Amino acid sequence: MGAMTDAGHHAHRLELERTRTLALLALLSRDFDGIVAASADSNADDEHDPEGATIAFERSQAGTMITQARDRLAEIEAALERVHGGTYGTCEVCGARIPDGRLEARPTARTCVLHAPGVADPRGRT
Ligand SMILES: [Zn+2]
Repeated sequence: MGAMTDAGHHAHRLELERTRTLALLALLSRDFDGIVAASADSNADDEHDPEGATIAFERSQAGTMITQARDRLAEIEAALERVHGGTYGTCEVCGARIPDGRLEARPTARTCVLHAPGVADPRGRT
């Protein structure tokens, strides 16, 4: 409980987030397998078949969500490595301490606000 970034607190949040993302990924993978199985059953080659189009759309959506969840997981694990390496909460660009408020909002943040990618959007991405 010092003036330093409370890495333990953020590590705990990251662990929770990691568990949640893993569960989500498992769920999405199962859905994806189901959709793939469904599209194998239906006549998905027939582009006049509206169901085939829906399934193709669902499959690409599920694929996108899986990709996003995997990216998220990679970010979380990289953040946890920084916690263990003692560099968590430090901007990768300028070395400044990342404000706790920013870490609360984005526990996986690698940079200070100034060096955040897509800083043009002050609302952030959620
Ligand atoms: Zn910076």
